[in-house]
Amino acid sequence: MPGFWGHTTANAVVLVGTTMVMRWQGWSWQDVMAVDAGIAVATFVLSPDMDLFRSESIKGWGVLRYLWLPYAKLAKHRDRLHLPVAGTLVRWLYVMAILALFVILFRFWFRRIGLQVSFDFAGDADDIIYNALYIVDVFIGAVIADTTHYLLDVASTRLKRLIPRRYRERYERYAQRHRERDRGPLRGSEWNLQGEER
Ligand SMILES: [Zn+2]
Repeated sequence: MPGFWGHTTANAVVLVGTTMVMRWQGWSWQDVMAVDAGIAVATFVLSPDMDLFRSESIKGWGVLRYLWLPYAKLAKHRDRLHLPVAGTLVRWLYVMAILALFVILFRFWFRRIGLQVSFDFAGDADDIIYNALYIVDVFIGAVIADTTHYLLDVASTRLKRLIPRRYRERYERYAQRHRERDRGPLRGSEWNLQGEER
């Protein structure tokens, strides 16, 4: 129910708060930026609402959103993968698997056309550990954002239950009319993938 903009606003507040707390605790700007980047990525690119194919979060992927179709089909909206940490990790692994697949396909294709491209990213061990720590920062940022998302989902559901049913239904009808005016009525094939973005 908070929808895309509700979550984006909440995460923006959390981003500012995290930045202030980390600076106050004496973390370097590099660490703060990496954590902030994690929050931004988890808000705009890999939000928990990737489990809903009609969500704003998936729309942001443009044509590439079809890469998320298997994920959205497998994960039920607001099911286990909506939980922070576990869900965060699964979405990261999902993207890494897609990237790995692309690298493999390109290597195969390059070999066929006889192009030599080095995909060797390895530097020396110190560099790798140093960079890996930033990845940990980014991941922590993503977990912070996903936790905020989850808490907001739970809180808004509680609030919603406090509102009498007839008001809720009136709101649903209103929202439905809006959606239809925006995008036209839902097509049959979209019914099973539609739902409320939360
Ligand atoms: Zn949600």
